[in-house]
Amino acid sequence: MTQNLDRLNALPLRDNLRGKSPYGAPQLDVAVALNTNENTHPVPADVHAAIVQEVTEAAWTLNRYPDREFTALREELARYLGHGLGSEHLWAANGSNEILQQLLQAFGGPGRSLLTFVPTYSMYPLLASGTDTAFIPGERAADFGLTPESAAEQVRRHGPDVVFLCSPNNPTGTALGQDVVTAVYEAGEEFSTVVVVDEAYAEFSHGGTPSALSLLEGRPRLVVSRTMSKAFALAGARLGYFAAAPEVADAVRLVRLPYHLSAVTQATALAALRHSASLLANVEDIKMQRDRIVDELKRMGLEPSESDSNFVFFGGMGDSRAVWEALLADGVLVRDVGIPGHLRVTAGTEEETSAFLESMERIASAR
Ligand code: PMP
Repeated sequence: MTQNLDRLNALPLRDNLRGKSPYGAPQLDVAVALNTNENTHPVPADVHAAIVQEVTEAAWTLNRYPDREFTALREELARYLGHGLGSEHLWAANGSNEILQQLLQAFGGPGRSLLTFVPTYSMYPLLASGTDTAFIPGERAADFGLTPESAAEQVRRHGPDVVFLCSPNNPTGTALGQDVVTAVYEAGEEFSTVVVVDEAYAEFSHGGTPSALSLLEGRPRLVVSRTMSKAFALAGARLGYFAAAPEVADAVRLVRLPYHLSAVTQATALAALRHSASLLANVEDIKMQRDRIVDELKRMGLEPSESDSNFVFFGGMGDSRAVWEALLADGVLVRDVGIPGHLRVTAGTEEETSAFLESMERIASAR
């Protein structure tokens, strides 16, 4: 490894990539993997059959490049989102990570900046360095909350070209009020700041938390990013998308690679969307498991945050690394997000959630 590092450093790597680590959530072979916020429910049989059929058809066309504009997929995504959106408002890419990267390629880049409010999704700084965009880690309150006043003041202070608002926030789990989104948008007016609301976990929100989709009308610099990796149980297919004014899609057309969405990806996503009711049926169960985790961890004397997502962020442990290791020894993999005294666990199936809670109970009572 050290030798590799020496060889890496000998390469003419861009300066802003030197010393950086790649994204590296462990992919370990464990019985209960609750560390990357996937939907751990298996793909339902009817969805599997529909995907196989659609991909089988698409396989006959693989000698040709796919539809560069993925027209059918954009129409289906618009139908799923509602809010009066049409296919011209939609854009898709290989996961919402690629969506965010394309937005930074178009609106960030050398001499430009990205403001986010930490702790937040760990890919944001990596996407910034990959696109040579200056990364500004904005602040949150001690309880990781963010008020409209604080967010707007930080936008005015830094004048960023792009803001990423993660709602519900990874890793803390809570959604932002619409007042934060509108305050950031208005404060960004004088800098023409592009405001991206990353709603990867939106489908898991409690009823009272409306999506920023309802704010798009009349806000040409607002973008709402979504993914099929979480609620749709389709992380392996790699399909993320955004909704925004049509000219935002035109902006990313300038940076996307031609035919970036393969025919197989388009066929898979289309089949899944046409069976969205079946896929989304598991969302209610996951929300129940999430609320169960919050209640049970409280009962054990730990400090879980309320969550609008499919995971729970919890504190109240002295040595969280030791707890992470003890859980792993029981075959339960959770996420150490690098915040001392805190861990993050994905809500799994009922059985997986029980395995986590039983292991956690043993660890907590032994302390
Ligand atoms: N945004 C957030 C907040 C996430 O947590 C994730 C996945 N962990 C993503 C975006 C990217 O997901 P994907 O590329 O699978 O759509």
